[in-house]
Amino acid sequence: MELEKEEILSAIHHCVKCKLCSIASFHPNEEWLPLCPSGEYYGYQAFYAPGKMEIFRAILEGEITEPSEGLLKSVYACTVCGACYEKCKQITNVELGAPDLFEAMRHELASRGWSLDAHKAIADKIEETKNAYGERYEYKVKEGAPDKNADVLYYIGCTARYRVPEIADAMLGIFDKIGVKYQLMDEEWCCGSVLVRTGQVEAAKELIEHNVEEIKRSGAKTVVFTCPGCLKTFKKNYPDMGVELLHATEFLARLGNMNLKNEELKAAYHDPCHLGRDLGIYDEPRVILSKVADIKKMKREREQAWCCGSGGGVKSAYKDFALWSATERLKEAKEAGADALVSACPFCKRNLKEAAEKEGQLEVYDVVELVNRCLG
Ligand code: SF4
Ligand code: SF4
Repeated sequence: MELEKEEILSAIHHCVKCKLCSIASFHPNEEWLPLCPSGEYYGYQAFYAPGKMEIFRAILEGEITEPSEGLLKSVYACTVCGACYEKCKQITNVELGAPDLFEAMRHELASRGWSLDAHKAIADKIEETKNAYGERYEYKVKEGAPDKNADVLYYIGCTARYRVPEIADAMLGIFDKIGVKYQLMDEEWCCGSVLVRTGQVEAAKELIEHNVEEIKRSGAKTVVFTCPGCLKTFKKNYPDMGVELLHATEFLARLGNMNLKNEELKAAYHDPCHLGRDLGIYDEPRVILSKVADIKKMKREREQAWCCGSGGGVKSAYKDFALWSATERLKEAKEAGADALVSACPFCKRNLKEAAEKEGQLEVYDVVELVNRCLG
């Protein structure tokens, strides 16, 4: 556990259990909208942030010595979206660091052998194949396009590589169309995000060492990511490699107009938790999207964005909860008058699209797909 026990207990004791972190806006003149997907879906105190903190306190102080099914669900049926943390900071001016606390709690549970089978299975797949989906086939790139001497390296990530390849295709299409030379890693391994978020921190060490070595050897000066989860992990859990780490939307925002054709699509922008709340990247995706679409504003945005429901190991362990959360987001986009919901994360796209297909609502895109399309 990176945080010391005393530090954790002190943070937990500062939570006054007001539960205001579960409401997006509570001004008397405004509609009160929920903010915590976990609490809203399961409906018990143990699923809201203060309940989870109380459980962590009881574990650390030795009051809980066995993992009941309910306890594990309360801890792991949480997308670690950070909405509670941002809201609490806004109200109390105190940084309790809830996402870090929740990750520390999962690490503590994992070190006691209290991981979920679904999460252990992901760790096994990674150990065997070096990617989170246990796939062995190679993502195909245009023959001869990657350039070993390029300053820019595109880190694809497991989800865009194996589950949402249209995002990786779009990013490579953009590089080609705007004439940016890029390279890919000879042997890209999972960044380790899913292991860190589910408390299996030790298992991520080998992956980190390998990827650091590969990137240093590449000689690239800038690493571009379409996955905010990978980017967060590289920024927060990797040693400094002396290279610039950028999300695709930051990279594209620097390029100016790019002569993009505006399709006038009515689109709502969904802030991915790792991109927005974790990395503070709110403006660049909106700048890019505004060049190709007519942005419709949703009620819960930026720091108070509603999570898509996919992160923190939820998609693999609690599918119904993940899809419900995505459906709530789609409804909000529809209410805003959007015909499409656009995100900047393969995890969000995958979950929102699955929910949209089930409910027959809205088109779902990643912003790089629209940019690639609007470059002609
Ligand atoms: S985390 Fe903050 S806002 Fe939430 S219950 Fe605790 S003190 Fe209140
Ligand atoms: S991190 Fe997100 S899902 Fe988890 S308790 Fe906080 S608001 Fe709820």
